[in-house]
Amino acid sequence: KQATKIVIAGGGAGGLATASQLQRKFDKDGDILIIEPSEKHYYQPLWTLVGGGLFKKEDSVRDETTLIPEGTKWEKDSVIKYIPDENSVLLKSGKKVSYDYLVVATGLTIYWDKIKGLKETLGKNGVTSNYSFDSVEKTYDFIKNLKQGVAIFTFPSTVIKCGGAPQKIMWLADDYWRTEGVRNNISVQFNTAGVSMFAVKKYSDALDGLCKDRNVQPNFKHNLVEVRGDTKEAVFETAEGPKVVKFDMLHVTPPMGPSDEIKSSPLADPATGFVSVNKETLQHVKYENVFSLGDCSNIPTSKTAAAITKQAPVLVANLISHKNGQPLAAKYDGYTSCPITTSRNKVILAEFVYGNIPKESLPWDQSKESYFAMGLKKYLFPTAYWSGLLNGRWFGPNLFFNPVSVPDVKKN
Ligand code: FAD
Repeated sequence: KQATKIVIAGGGAGGLATASQLQRKFDKDGDILIIEPSEKHYYQPLWTLVGGGLFKKEDSVRDETTLIPEGTKWEKDSVIKYIPDENSVLLKSGKKVSYDYLVVATGLTIYWDKIKGLKETLGKNGVTSNYSFDSVEKTYDFIKNLKQGVAIFTFPSTVIKCGGAPQKIMWLADDYWRTEGVRNNISVQFNTAGVSMFAVKKYSDALDGLCKDRNVQPNFKHNLVEVRGDTKEAVFETAEGPKVVKFDMLHVTPPMGPSDEIKSSPLADPATGFVSVNKETLQHVKYENVFSLGDCSNIPTSKTAAAITKQAPVLVANLISHKNGQPLAAKYDGYTSCPITTSRNKVILAEFVYGNIPKESLPWDQSKESYFAMGLKKYLFPTAYWSGLLNGRWFGPNLFFNPVSVPDVKKN
């Protein structure tokens, strides 16, 4: 009897959570391999708090080798080509790996190059981004050193990781400048390519209120296209044409999208370039033995680690059902969550499902700023991530109880 060969491309949040749950279910009946090029794994949601000066960046990183589930193999390499018609993937090293099942979880690609001048000036001239481990600590340096002038926080025209993160750091900075007594000397602007503060109306309305109360200027339909570091100028595309704005500090959320190898593969959704899956079962729309979750998939919800807490058990249940020859019964409802830090001790905890419909877990109105939710963001979520999600034992608002009924693997 042959073990089922499962290849997982990507050992990030989605890849590790899925591997842990599959490993436990398949045990010796599975031959599970993670393909992941990086020796380091990052808890990216912490970068907001690192940029805000509340944690050190070292707190967000661990060695990948310590996170690979026992019994699962790790190939330190990248997938460069998906060949689903042959049930195989090609790796950068030239090696071809075949599979019975493939799970694609390679995350989002950040297109730093798409903003002219950004790479050259990132980390200098007041220009920073929480979206990179290399620049995240610069954010706090620039916040601390700014005593007056113009601070701009941007949001691009593409999908991004965690839709709230571009403004979370703005509110943390606003709070810092208030305690330092310099806030009245600083003009704070949120320049977004979008048309509202947040995708879900309930939270967007609350954030509109905060903008008024805290004298933050939102500028909608402002898409950053160029940064001129030496003259401290940012160029935005607007409905009225290009607009050049002087800044003293600029926090950039860069454009993001699917990786080249996914976009050019038969797995891609032609409209978005992400892996095309059924939004409820997470099975590929064409290749039955391919599944995907997390940021690299075309699942139409906000891309977060919180979403993965609900996606992974659905994917695992459906992969096993498929293997057993049973119908795919588990369904993902689009659950995602975004703890929007509105100061250094308060959070608006957005939680919602498909259709941008709020689905809150706490017994009060979560569009109100809450100390308790900040406690979750600072203390519970990091522990739940490292010791729960990556081990396949954390199910978001269901805590340690898997709400999905996962079938046992039928013996061959
Ligand atoms: P990732 O965790 O990014 O993992 C992808 C993995 O695939 C990486 O390890 C990468 O090395 C690997 N890989 C890439 N290409 C290949 C390849 N070709 N072959 C093999 N492997 C490959 N989420 C929340 O829930 N709450 C938050 O508050 C929050 N805040 C955030 C703040 C910031 C600043 C950022 C950057 C993210 C935030 N997120 C938040 C989002 C969260 O981090 C991501 O949604 C989550 O990590 C997605 O998991 P993933 O497995 O899809 O991708």
